[in-house]
Amino acid sequence: MAGVDLPFKCDCGKVQGMLLGVSPGNGNRTDCYCRDCRAAENFAAPKATHGPGPVHLYQTRPDRIRIDQGLDQMAVFSLSPKGVLRWYAKCCGSMLFNTLRTPKMAFAAFFTDRTPDAGPLGPVRTRANIQNADGTSRHESLSRALLSLARNAIPARITGGWKQTPFFYPDTLEPVREVYVLGKDERAAATNPSG
Ligand SMILES: [Zn+2]
Ligand SMILES: [Zn+2]
Repeated sequence: MAGVDLPFKCDCGKVQGMLLGVSPGNGNRTDCYCRDCRAAENFAAPKATHGPGPVHLYQTRPDRIRIDQGLDQMAVFSLSPKGVLRWYAKCCGSMLFNTLRTPKMAFAAFFTDRTPDAGPLGPVRTRANIQNADGTSRHESLSRALLSLARNAIPARITGGWKQTPFFYPDTLEPVREVYVLGKDERAAATNPSG
């Protein structure tokens, strides 16, 4: 499965890059309905209107991501000290990627709104963190999403492919940007922007 190279950019165009060799078979398109993904968007671009729907993600591997320009505009934050790393373009507040805190799990979620045509990534196969009326949440797997993730992350670990990542230094395993952790009040404001 060769896949295709898919260009992406932030909304203002300063950050540009390429998803390499992506196909519906080597990643997973997910719509995430969780409060944190929405809060992250609100924090990254406080003046823009977001929602009310889910954020659109494509789960893939960092070694399939290349940043071609605007690396100096990339910044990263987290909603909590141990939370997911949320990479965005500070030039215009576009969310770009979510990663874990260690490069050793070769995982990155790309915000598919940043590519003009997400068609080559296949159909949305998972709906995550759907909020139920009683306050709980659920996942709807429209195919074998987790299996697809494991198939991708595990081989990268065995082959050392995880070291190819634009997000971490391969020697120190530290993120290439200082992680800004939101304070309690900032997080609350991003979660309930009108409240
Ligand atoms: Zn931008
Ligand atoms: Zn989410």
